[in-house]
Amino acid sequence: MIQSYRMVAEETDFPLHLGVTESGTRKDGSVKSSIGIGTLLADGIGDTIRVSLAAPSVEEVEVGHQILSSLGIGRPGVNIIACPTCGRMVGDLFSIVDEVEEAVKEQGSNKDLEVALMGCAVNGPGEAAGADLGISLGRGRAHLFKRGEVVRTVEEDEIIDAVLEAIETWDEEDDAEAERAASAEATAA
Ligand code: SF4
Repeated sequence: MIQSYRMVAEETDFPLHLGVTESGTRKDGSVKSSIGIGTLLADGIGDTIRVSLAAPSVEEVEVGHQILSSLGIGRPGVNIIACPTCGRMVGDLFSIVDEVEEAVKEQGSNKDLEVALMGCAVNGPGEAAGADLGISLGRGRAHLFKRGEVVRTVEEDEIIDAVLEAIETWDEEDDAEAERAASAEATAA
């Protein structure tokens, strides 16, 4: 599929609609679609996309949006990232990630934010501080980061509410102002 689209793109400027046909189940089909569509989009090939899964069409749409947001294109939205976990993990990060992802989906925010969910207090804080919003788990609690600073310590069972509230109250004006200030500083330097 990838090779065919590359050959067609060399021959024409017509818009191209990308999709992996009969890709399979939720999991296998999402992986195949992500590779096929994502590789071509990263090459600059493709104008529209479709994801075809043996699953309800709402899931196909969600996977399509995830492919676009993973490439930093498409409509704005909350991008959740999480650490791969290792022996240092404290707490149940897997459930927290699943629940935050589901809750954020339901919240339906169109704020363009990266939210990092990290499993320990060793390497977690650095990663959480690097995102717009982040949490790093400690024993039974977590630090909540906003723009690189710890703004709250929350109990483990309050994490989801705390993340949702931080997204809801994220002030885009402040963010734009911070970006303008950083760019003015860089220009002056
Ligand atoms: S953030 Fe902590 S728990 Fe997660 S992978 Fe890194 S070291 Fe392991």
